[in-house]
Amino acid sequence: MRLLFAEDDPMIGAGVREGLAQDGFAVDWVRDGAAAERALAENVHELVLLDLGLPRVDGLDVLAAMRRRGDTRPVLVLTARDALADRVAGLDAGADDYLTKPFELAELAARLRALARRASGRAAPTIELPGVSIDPATREVRVEGAPVALSGREYALLEALSARPGAILSRAQLEERLYGWKDAVESNAVEVHLSSLRRKLPEGFIRNVRGLGWMISPRKASA
Ligand code: CA
Repeated sequence: MRLLFAEDDPMIGAGVREGLAQDGFAVDWVRDGAAAERALAENVHELVLLDLGLPRVDGLDVLAAMRRRGDTRPVLVLTARDALADRVAGLDAGADDYLTKPFELAELAARLRALARRASGRAAPTIELPGVSIDPATREVRVEGAPVALSGREYALLEALSARPGAILSRAQLEERLYGWKDAVESNAVEVHLSSLRRKLPEGFIRNVRGLGWMISPRKASA
């Protein structure tokens, strides 16, 4: 899950980036509102975590501009403790949720997962696909009921593909889900991780569509 994180406080920024990375998020951290707007224009993030008190462009203005453009990506705002007016203003400007500082990383990660779930039209916490179930909270994957161990990259690919079974994701789209800006990407990384992932899943579960990319087959494969 690729996340844009806008926060000018270096301590909070580093701590949250580190914690969410351990929770399986690919986090791109920007330090001011103008950088946040440039990153949003790239349209590669699925979730936005936005501090409201940001230099250069205020977080509320970033959010309001997003919604005016019709950008519907889920936004969780971070506000100062007891700043009721900020929370109200954030929600009214189009935020989907908020947390007040200081907050617990576990709660932040859980709220982000909930936003991602709702954005993908799911209410249930686990993703049930033919022969495969995925629990985004624990990142546990089961094939025909039996747990399988996936690496972080393998899990990220499966999560990206399972958000819309039947939709084809290109190699570039999958690369975007796997790597933040700072990560070096080897040229065949997606193929390598996909090939080991496919070996752990039922035959035909992830299909290659020649020249276009990969998809999860919406129907149970006939073995
Ligand atoms: Ca701030």
